[in-house]
Amino acid sequence: MSHSIAFIAKDFDILKKEIFDFSGLEGAAFLFCGESVSNERVTLIAREIFPITKEHYLSRKHDGLSIDSQAYVNAVKRALRNKATIIFVHSHPGEFKDFSQRDEKELLKLHKFFSARMPDRHHGSLILTKEGKFSGRVWFNNKWSEIDKLKIIGKRFKFLSSDNPKPISDFFDRQVLVFGNKIQESLQNIHIGIVGAGGTGSCVAEQVARLGVGQISIFDDDKLEKSNMSRVFGSTLKDVGKNKAEILANHIKNIEIGTSVNAYPKSICEKDTAMKLRDCDVIFGCSDTHSSRGIITRLSHYYFIPFIDLAVLVNSSGGIIQEIVGRVTTVFPGEACLFCRDRIKPEIITLEGMTEKERKRLVSEKYAPELDTDDPSVITFTAEVACQGVTELIHRIADFKGSDYNSTEMLMFFDKNSIRTNTVPPKDNCLCMREENLGIGDKRDFLGLIWQK
Ligand SMILES: [Zn+2]
Ligand SMILES: [Zn+2]
Repeated sequence: MSHSIAFIAKDFDILKKEIFDFSGLEGAAFLFCGESVSNERVTLIAREIFPITKEHYLSRKHDGLSIDSQAYVNAVKRALRNKATIIFVHSHPGEFKDFSQRDEKELLKLHKFFSARMPDRHHGSLILTKEGKFSGRVWFNNKWSEIDKLKIIGKRFKFLSSDNPKPISDFFDRQVLVFGNKIQESLQNIHIGIVGAGGTGSCVAEQVARLGVGQISIFDDDKLEKSNMSRVFGSTLKDVGKNKAEILANHIKNIEIGTSVNAYPKSICEKDTAMKLRDCDVIFGCSDTHSSRGIITRLSHYYFIPFIDLAVLVNSSGGIIQEIVGRVTTVFPGEACLFCRDRIKPEIITLEGMTEKERKRLVSEKYAPELDTDDPSVITFTAEVACQGVTELIHRIADFKGSDYNSTEMLMFFDKNSIRTNTVPPKDNCLCMREENLGIGDKRDFLGLIWQK
């Protein structure tokens, strides 16, 4: 079982300000968190910062601090009221990132106190140094587990690892010359989810694997058809009739550059499969349904998982092209989601959830539009959108387009030789603006949805 903490970047900055408020002295704060608990990973999602105010410090030194018991009692009260997990964070102003002997003793007492009052929660402790190093632990079932990853999601996606970086393979020599070791270490440390293993999804997988991403999970419940072969990377005629996610996962394994790959031959519109996405650090949306895009949009809001959505729209009839548009939209907390942008529509999600018979009746009565099934598609367009999507991921990690690049969407008008970028504010009444669900993580009604399966 691995453990991580997810932050929104602006909250992480506030936290650092709070605990490094006096130069050279330790400082502390509580975080209140949602939880994501899968079979493989526990992620604590930092929703609220609760600084420790002056009157609660008994002492503050460069190598230790002590806080009155009232501060702990207040923290538990607030956590119980908000059904939140508590993380106690303190700074080490020097370079020493590990738990001191004094920390070991004091934090054990503190966590026994938290666990006695809220035993079903994975309360944690985190130490941050000024240089950006960290050390963290979770106390659960009477034992400590190490926190191995911090995810800080904002204009840049930062993935910090507590472990010493693994050696970088010489497969990646040329790109290390471009982006440096740090970026390569980040890529090795992340888990990418790819929803949809068709034209765009297969091209994304091929690229992220060769970039050196450590872990990839591929989701698709469809079987490969002959008509997909013109666009699907890694597919051969022998694969027709097999599941697309499994074909792609086998292809990536066969590259043999050490990528850990999981294939899920199921739809993410099924709850158990959608729940597997919680362990991903970034998700690529490469499916063609509004329902699956709606689910990933919610995940990004509930779990702070950034989402890069890719689409190609070919408007052509009888071989006459009206318009060919590619789209790359990046969604993360604080930015407009796919609902805000009208890229997905609740009424289409409702239609997709109906049986074919119900849908046909509504269409015949003109109550509903027809759903597009076999869309026209060409490998050059799907691949180009995939390339821009993966470039967006690299930019978010490496910041190579510069910190003044604020766009969260790119539109490619292939038939007009033009590319446009845009950013729009979230809409006030949209689900992505609902604070009560922001970072809430696991709930009995997963993502606030009613699941058929
Ligand atoms: Zn300490
Ligand atoms: Zn929205």
